[in-house]
Amino acid sequence: MQKENGVCFGCGKETNGTPAKADWIISGARKFRSLLSLPKKQTVACTACMPSLREKREKFEKSQGAYRIGAAAVFLVLILLSALAKSIDAGMVLSAAAAALFIWLLSFFRYSPKFD
Ligand SMILES: [Zn+2]
Repeated sequence: MQKENGVCFGCGKETNGTPAKADWIISGARKFRSLLSLPKKQTVACTACMPSLREKREKFEKSQGAYRIGAAAVFLVLILLSALAKSIDAGMVLSAAAAALFIWLLSFFRYSPKFD
């Protein structure tokens, strides 16, 4: 794996390390930086942080699955409850979707990029 200069996701130091795999969060952050005309910085993992960052990523991926199931469950329960109460309408579906989205977004507090 080719190493690149960048900022380590673990310790925040400018260093030479393994670059993060670009996902929508990484590319979003890059776009955001270029919009603000900030210098381009690669997100990397230095050798010292690599094991803990890999572990973090694994935990994040696991929690993503759980949060997705949780979000889907909340959505279904809200829809089911409003259907039972015969108060289901577009607004109710939207609120249920917003609640599910909120739960899913909570999982990103644990976000860690993937390093190969
Ligand atoms: Zn580091």
